[in-house]
Amino acid sequence: SQSLAESDPDLAKAVGQEIRRQQQQIELIASENIVSRAVLEAQGSPLTNKYAEGYPGRRYYGGCEFVDIAEDLARDRARKLFGAAYVNVQPSSGSQANQGVFLALLKPGDKILGMSLDAGGHLTHGAKPNISGKWFEAHHYGVREDDALIDYDALEEKAREVQPQLIIAGGSAYPRIIDFERFRKIADEVGAYLMVDMAHFAGLVAAGEYPSPIPHADVVTTTTHKTLRGPRGGMILSRDEDLGKKFNSAIFPGLQGGPLMHVVAAKAVAFGEALQPGFKDYIKAVVANCKIMAETLKDGGYEIVSGGTDSHLALVDLRPKSLTGDISEMALERAYMTCNKNGVPFDPEKPMVTSGLRIGSPAGTTRGFGEAEFRQIGEMMVEVLDALSQNRSGNKSVEEAVKARVIELTSRFPIYPELS
Ligand code: PLP
Repeated sequence: SQSLAESDPDLAKAVGQEIRRQQQQIELIASENIVSRAVLEAQGSPLTNKYAEGYPGRRYYGGCEFVDIAEDLARDRARKLFGAAYVNVQPSSGSQANQGVFLALLKPGDKILGMSLDAGGHLTHGAKPNISGKWFEAHHYGVREDDALIDYDALEEKAREVQPQLIIAGGSAYPRIIDFERFRKIADEVGAYLMVDMAHFAGLVAAGEYPSPIPHADVVTTTTHKTLRGPRGGMILSRDEDLGKKFNSAIFPGLQGGPLMHVVAAKAVAFGEALQPGFKDYIKAVVANCKIMAETLKDGGYEIVSGGTDSHLALVDLRPKSLTGDISEMALERAYMTCNKNGVPFDPEKPMVTSGLRIGSPAGTTRGFGEAEFRQIGEMMVEVLDALSQNRSGNKSVEEAVKARVIELTSRFPIYPELS
């Protein structure tokens, strides 16, 4: 049969353009990464053709003996990676992993307590426009105004007052280590389940560079495509195999039909990679690189929320330079550095404007950038943003000059050369 370029030139052109964008630009979006060629190959395999409703050994379709091998590999490797008794690798996304937990443990109208969006929480933790905010009575905790750390005392007080059925720890823009023991104590005190959504820092947990939530939480959810560096998807883990049976029924037949077996196979590959000693070195570099990038921005006069980072991400507060996140994101994009605008705690600006930027080191570190390169990236960001603070529509000559330096840098650290 025909190649993509032969059968669909329009689509092939867009794919080619996207590959080139990834090759040339510096990816600073904290939730993104660059998967290996092996992960791509598994995901692009004919396993996409297979229906496999059910679980290995108990499928509703014939011909599943080989996809069973893929799912068993993914499950065994994930259990080993995180020291969990139970795992489900079928959720098609992080959102569906969270919905699976809700379906298993809650009824509509039950109370949940998660981190608020503006403090760094995620939409699926009870935000109003999300199903989690519509079908449950959602309450939120936040961070302290003075140091931007989770206010555990206020959280405890809120939990006592609300008496939630489920407490959720974890988020998308919290740069610091979370105290899971404290969360456990609070959950026990009010008789709530504790769910930790480790989507962002799962790779750090796998590498032992972030405390593991597995011993403390009733259930842990994650995406597989962020610091874990696998295909786009979700996963549920637990130390409790009995609860696990409920999560299995919630994912299938509760929420999903046939699992994406090509993606499950790619998850197996990524977990295998994360079990290699080199992954620990990678994650150590991710954390060190993020610190350097954040410090460089701080030296340039920008504020870093909570004063720094313990992880792969940092939040830049642009207010010292009278900038907003929306125009800053666009100026950096013009200079070929991709990141996202992000609210800072107690942000006076609207969500489409914001006072901050979220930056991350996972993708850049994968392509081989070290501390010297991340210092250079921090300096280039400062250059573009300082110029923007002088002229809010941007400084074309500064942005063009930085873009040329970015292209020079990324060309020295190529990705997917075989796809060029
Ligand atoms: N949970 C957290 C903490 C996240 O950061 C994200 C993604 O940004 C998700 C869940 C949702 O994952 P997905 O985009 O795969 O639905």
